[in-house]
Amino acid sequence: MIKYKLLCKDCDLKFDSWFASSNEYERLKKKKILTCHKCNSINIEKTIMAPQLISHKSGADLKINLEKYNKVKKTIKNYQKFIKDNFKYVGDNFAYEARSIHYNSKKKSRGIYGSASKEDLKELKEEGIDAQMIPWIEENEN
Ligand SMILES: [Zn+2]
Repeated sequence: MIKYKLLCKDCDLKFDSWFASSNEYERLKKKKILTCHKCNSINIEKTIMAPQLISHKSGADLKINLEKYNKVKKTIKNYQKFIKDNFKYVGDNFAYEARSIHYNSKKKSRGIYGSASKEDLKELKEEGIDAQMIPWIEENEN
């Protein structure tokens, strides 16, 4: 079974209808059996939809969320690029490097980024070193 959102082009009514298959929809439409629930017009068209989303409560919501996710993901990626271009990657040595910058004020260093445990971050904070946690997406695409 497949659910289509149908649109009446005459009165703009939108309604859902179930079909055995997309072929059945075409067949009924050709035979002019498909009619508007409100004005009986045969000027019916199916609106664009993704059949694999029909089990979801609202396909539209999911689409919006995906768009939102992609947008956020893009922002994070841009942010990551900025960090990669301007900060030095220190990997697991983050806590060590952060202290080295903090306690050696003469040492001119650009910012660093790397991984640190929650414990590390807590200790750094207690020492007055403010490290920022940032969202990070692992590069496993492209
Ligand atoms: Zn109608």
